[in-house]
Amino acid sequence: MGSPWSELLANLAVVAMFVSVWIHTHVWLDRRPAAAKAAAFGLLMGAGAIILMLTPMQLQPGVLVDLRATMIAVAGFFGGPVAGIVAGVMAGAYRTFAGGVGAFAGAVGIAATMLVGVAGNLALRGRAPAMSDIMILGAATAAGSLLGLSVLPHSVVEMVLPKVALPSTLLIFVSVALSGLTLHQERRRLEALQSRRIFKAVVETLPDCLNVKDLDGRFIVANPATAELMHAADARALIGKTDFDFYPRDTAQQFREDELAVLKSGAASTIEQRLHHDDGTEGWLATLKAPFRDKAGTVVGLITHNRDITQRKQLETELAESQARLGDALTHMADGLVMFDPLGRLMLCNAQYRALFPKTADIRVPGADYRDILRASAQRGEAITPPEAVDDWIEDIMASQKLVSHRQVRLADGRWLDVRTRPTGDGGSLSVFSDITEAKQVEAELLALNEKLNLLAHRDGLTELLTRRAFDEALAREFSRARRTTTPLSLLIIDVDWFKRFNDHYGHPAGDECLRAVSRAIEATARRPGDAAARYGGEEFALVLPETDARGAFVIAENLRSKVRDLALAHAGSEKGIVTVSIGVGTFDAGAAAMEIAELLRRADEALYGAKAAGRDRVHGWRPHLSDQRSTGTRRKT
Ligand code: GH3
Ligand code: MG
Ligand code: MG
Repeated sequence: MGSPWSELLANLAVVAMFVSVWIHTHVWLDRRPAAAKAAAFGLLMGAGAIILMLTPMQLQPGVLVDLRATMIAVAGFFGGPVAGIVAGVMAGAYRTFAGGVGAFAGAVGIAATMLVGVAGNLALRGRAPAMSDIMILGAATAAGSLLGLSVLPHSVVEMVLPKVALPSTLLIFVSVALSGLTLHQERRRLEALQSRRIFKAVVETLPDCLNVKDLDGRFIVANPATAELMHAADARALIGKTDFDFYPRDTAQQFREDELAVLKSGAASTIEQRLHHDDGTEGWLATLKAPFRDKAGTVVGLITHNRDITQRKQLETELAESQARLGDALTHMADGLVMFDPLGRLMLCNAQYRALFPKTADIRVPGADYRDILRASAQRGEAITPPEAVDDWIEDIMASQKLVSHRQVRLADGRWLDVRTRPTGDGGSLSVFSDITEAKQVEAELLALNEKLNLLAHRDGLTELLTRRAFDEALAREFSRARRTTTPLSLLIIDVDWFKRFNDHYGHPAGDECLRAVSRAIEATARRPGDAAARYGGEEFALVLPETDARGAFVIAENLRSKVRDLALAHAGSEKGIVTVSIGVGTFDAGAAAMEIAELLRRADEALYGAKAAGRDRVHGWRPHLSDQRSTGTRRKT
């Protein structure tokens, strides 16, 4: 029996060998279920424990001291409960089979270390063990193993323990630590392998180009997208080659200069590169270039990431062109155009729009709030607003921006603007402003002209009384109203006496003047709203008096006759010496028998004839007997 140190050190080699076997073979089991892999690990570790028990330090027959605890604890800790139990049961079964005084103590030690391993594994809850975890495992395993020794028969404990306690505890600790470290490293190596595999897959499937070149510009690594961009057969065809092998000289030279600049500065940079292929096509690349450094930090190459932005560049060009066209259209259109965003901020306007508002042009700029613009326009006396309700005015306009509208706005300086507003798809609005001041003026002139024409059509040019036609309409209107409301209506026909002689004596212009004077007298007589006076013929006038019976009409007629006399216009051709009128009165009495307008006219006319016949300068009403006289001759010359 040698020193416990040397025998146990030999054990250490066996432990190392079994861990090593696992590390080199476990990949065969990669495709198996996890439980199968764990069982295999347990089997291997259990076998290791048995081998260790075959080459123990035998302190006395039946009392074996060895490093089996390491195998069992490692199996449970790294392989999980399945592996731990498999290894533990195998070792326990063998130890029991080997028998001896230490058989029970051996079984206790095996159970204890199995528990330590499995418990440690469970305590990790799936996370990867750290160095400290492995150290704790080593200490716990050594303690579990000591627990086994301590249940040996008392006489044996006294003899054995002082001799082996230290070496066995220490070596179990060391062997667990070393095995653990090795398995831990293996795990890290697998993880690194896995992440490399992921990186490789990502780089290979990336639609963007990714490659690394050495300091001389030769490809070291390239992904398939790079090969595609460079019109190379595949990524491998690029390795060892440079851009000069794939691009026209000028392009490759430009690329090389870009690369040298990055290498020189040592900092990553993004640039846009124009690309000409040998086949004549061209395109654009967005390129990120970054120095590639070794572990010591020395630049040993260059990482390049390219994105094909040919399409984006094309779109940018098209966008710029269409914006230029739009800008052109905005600049050259005659009207003012303005767009507001959904919050009411000015987004875009042309110079014409600002020119329409010289007092607020300074604030009608992109970014300005429409409310502020409107308030300034009110304050600076540009817009016409109700002074005490400017806020309401602003809110009304803001609300109208959300609707399709077409309005005409008058500015304080007298100009008129036509404003067409449409909501835009994004919730904002677009308005077109046109100066319609001139059109408005023309419109006003037309209106005035129209009124004048109306007057001309309905008013007699000399006297400004109604024309005969307008009078006929007025009479018809009043006549039917009288009939409807059963009210009386009277008609006066007024004729200037001896007027032919007046003309002959004083001349036609003086005659006209006389007719105007008589007209004013007639107008002054017909003061009630429904009254309508007209020039009925040359020097003959008519006056409708609604709601006036024969007696009332007679009074009015007398009034008119004396008014004309009061004018005292000299008339040398008349025996009266002054201008006088004769008036015939006809009355429609709704209470009496039915009557037509023609009959009313005839009666007034007959009455006038009567007045003339009776000596002129008088008023006559219609009397039935007159109709007999009327039938004997026609006085009317019109
Ligand atoms: P009587 O008392 O019977 O009515 O006699 P009279 O001369 O007024 O009758 P008559 O109807 O024959 O004459 C009407 C004259 O009125 C004829 C014409 O010279 C004149 N006269 C008609 N229209 C105008 C006019 O617009 N201006 C002028 N100055 N004279 C007119
Ligand atoms: Mg006459
Ligand atoms: Mg007359």
